[in-house]
Amino acid sequence: MQFRDLKKQYEALKPEMDQAILDTVASAGYIGGPRVKALEELLAAYCGVKHCITCGNGTDALQLMLQAWGIGPGDAVFVPDFTFFASGEVVSFVGATPVFYDVDLDTFNADVNSLEAAIQAVKAEGSLHPKVVITVDLFGLPANYDAIEALAAKHDLLVLEDSAQGFGGEFDGQRACSFGDAATTSFFPAKPLGCYGDGGAIFTNDDKVAELLRSLCVHGKGSFKYDNVRIGVNSRLDAVQAAVLDVKLKAFADYELEAVNKAAAWYDAALSGVVKTPVIPDGYMSSWAQYTIQLPSREVRDGLQDALKAQGIPTMVYYPKPMHCQTAFSGVKAYVDCPNTEKLCDTVLSLPMHPYLEKETVQTVADAIKAYLK
Ligand SMILES: *Cc1c(COP(=O)(O)O)cnc(C)c1O
Repeated sequence: MQFRDLKKQYEALKPEMDQAILDTVASAGYIGGPRVKALEELLAAYCGVKHCITCGNGTDALQLMLQAWGIGPGDAVFVPDFTFFASGEVVSFVGATPVFYDVDLDTFNADVNSLEAAIQAVKAEGSLHPKVVITVDLFGLPANYDAIEALAAKHDLLVLEDSAQGFGGEFDGQRACSFGDAATTSFFPAKPLGCYGDGGAIFTNDDKVAELLRSLCVHGKGSFKYDNVRIGVNSRLDAVQAAVLDVKLKAFADYELEAVNKAAAWYDAALSGVVKTPVIPDGYMSSWAQYTIQLPSREVRDGLQDALKAQGIPTMVYYPKPMHCQTAFSGVKAYVDCPNTEKLCDTVLSLPMHPYLEKETVQTVADAIKAYLK
């Protein structure tokens, strides 16, 4: 059994995929060019945003956005305590200070009360300038943007949607990668929309920011490539990856997103009342980057994971450590406590999840979980 069956996906897409890759190789245009431009237009239209700027990976996308906003030393950037390391890493990388806030036990996303407490604590202390709220659409579910955008407006903060795991999700009929002041995603192979290597993108409706990002991605280029007007980076999407994503986006929109939601419903039906299953609030749709259950304790979680492994059922712990406990952040001050994150790190377990999962496989996983917990 595969945790995320990328081989099965390739087999399903093989004829079209092989042709797209070979055509790109034969065209001898490997970086940028018409394939990348066409993909950016498709992605922008899909997400309902004016500009999509592709780049090297989802981490670069976040970092470039912070750079474009001029975030640096002395600035506070609010980051969920329960997320992948990159969401906070980029903040320190540009010289700003990450301020971690807690998440909700049902949705795994921002706890707006904790976020507000963190903002108030930073303001009361007075040594940092609060600038940006990074939200994460964890496991495929968009964060609570109604409340977050209102709170950010009240405190004059920018909102950066880290939708590395959220592509395809919806809230109130609006698609992920279109919330806040700018959004980013990742095309790492195991994400909801993945390529065959690293890739990422930034989404914004702001013409000026879009222009600045296009310069920052290519060594701070000015009117042409060898006119360099600012310090930038080299972060671009390869044409081959754009060709791969073009094929995958069609499958994603045609049937994969529907298929993962079907698989999630099978898990829900088989596991409700047995373990705490993921909560998708009214008005939301998840793109199911992960299907994550919660167990009563660390002991039960670890025991279950071992028992499933012995039966050939792969699972993952996303994430075993709160951001504020990471060694790399040991010098970073905690402004609020994050008890929910601490609890989740001990109790979460992500189950096999992908669009090619069969109902019998879901049943096998659910039966093994029930047998262990009995
Ligand atoms: C994967 C991920 C990233 C980083 O994306 P890469 O393409 O691997 O650099 C950032 N934030 C979150 C929440 C992620 O899951």
